[in-house]
Formats: sequence, C-alpha cells, structure tokens
Amino acid sequence: MSSQSIRAVHEQLRTIHGLYRQLKTLASRYKSAQLRVNVQKKKVAETQAHYDELKQKHTEMVLCAREAEDQFNLIDAAIKRRKTQLDEAKSNKEYTSLKEQIAEDQMRNDALADDVISLTEKAENFAPAVEEAKAKIAEAQEAQAAAEEELRALVPVIKEDSQRIQDDLRKKIQEVDSEFATPLRQALRSFDGDDAMAPVENGNICGGCRMEIPMRYIVALCEGHPYTCCSCDRFIYLPKDFTITNDEDD
Ligand SMILES: [Zn+2]
Repeated sequence: MSSQSIRAVHEQLRTIHGLYRQLKTLASRYKSAQLRVNVQKKKVAETQAHYDELKQKHTEMVLCAREAEDQFNLIDAAIKRRKTQLDEAKSNKEYTSLKEQIAEDQMRNDALADDVISLTEKAENFAPAVEEAKAKIAEAQEAQAAAEEELRALVPVIKEDSQRIQDDLRKKIQEVDSEFATPLRQALRSFDGDDAMAPVENGNICGGCRMEIPMRYIVALCEGHPYTCCSCDRFIYLPKDFTITNDEDD
C-alpha cells in the first residue's frame, strides 16, 4: 500500500470516527433536553408540595383564629345573658354571684380578644407566603412547558440529522479498504458507536484506553496494516498530523 493510500485510509477512518462522534453529540443533546424536562417536572412537584404545606399551615392558622373567635362569642353571649339576669336577681347573693361570674368571664374574654387579634394577624401575615408559593408553581410549570417544547422541537431535527449521518456512515464504511473494514466492523459490533475507534495519541498512546501501543504496531499502521488495541480492543487509526514513516512507495 502506498503511503498516499495509507494516508487516504486513515483519513476515511478519521471521517468515520468523526461521524460517530456527531451521532454521540446528537444523542447527548437529546438526553440533556430530556433531562431538563425531568428537572422541571421535579421542580413543579416540589413547588406544589411546598405550596400544599404552606396552604395547610395557613388553613390551620385561620381555623385556630376562628375557634378563638367562636369561644369569645360564646362567652360574650353568656356575659350578655347574665347582665339581663342581673335585673331579675331575687337576692343580693344571687346578684353578687352573677356580678362575680360576669367579671370572671369578662377577664377571660379580654384575654381571648387579644388572642383572636394576634391569631388573625398571624394568619393574615402568613397569607403572602402562600400566594408566593402558588406563583412559584406557575413559574415552574411555565419552565416545564418551555423545556417540553424545546424537546419536541429537537426530536425531528435529531432524527433527521441522525438518519443523514447513519446513511453517510454506511456509505463511508463500505468504501473502506477491505483489510481495514473487517476489524473495523468487528470493533463496531463490540462497542457502542464512537467508542469502537480511537486515534493514536502522543505518538504511541491508544486514545481510548491510554495504554502504550507497542512500536511494532505503530510501524504496522504506518506500513498500511490495520491495528486493534491489544488492551481495549478499539480499532486504532492515525491522527491527521501523524508522520507516516513508510515512504518507500512514494
Ligand atoms: Zn486501547
């Protein structure tokens, strides 16, 4: 094989690996778009749970204030009733007893009135946090819809690009010299896409597993023979700037 043909084969192999890398990029674009949707879905669920929690807390506060108010009203009614009974008291003793009960209830209700005010205020002050939490759900839902729309728009683009690259790959692999094509196909069967191939890096390092490639195999590559990494089984090719030392056929 002439060094020109050797260069041509490795250029084909670089192109093929480049196409596999493009496929991988497309797949990871799809994956991250899908991930964004999932993240947003999780955020919606989280904001919803947070809102539910605050809402429940607020409802309890309102109930608490209402209960205090109901109790206040009950005692207030009792005080009013006893005040009318004062006029009908049949004895001084009964009158004094009613007076005492009224005073006692009044004291309880003065304290309750303070409670009602403070509990009502507490519930009112808490309400904005509930509203804020509700707004956060809407925000998260909007972000989820945007992420879903992005994914929807991406699907046909990725599908079309993948199809084009795969067609191109099939053609390019068919064009590869048969001596290289067999081990290449074998590596492609064992690995997932771009992982099947690796360039020589730093002169003699497998770009896939970072192990040193014995010099005799680098020589074999330069002489136009294929090489599959002894350590990781990836199909090895020469990078663009590699100096091919076999110039005898030039
Ligand atoms: Zn390797």
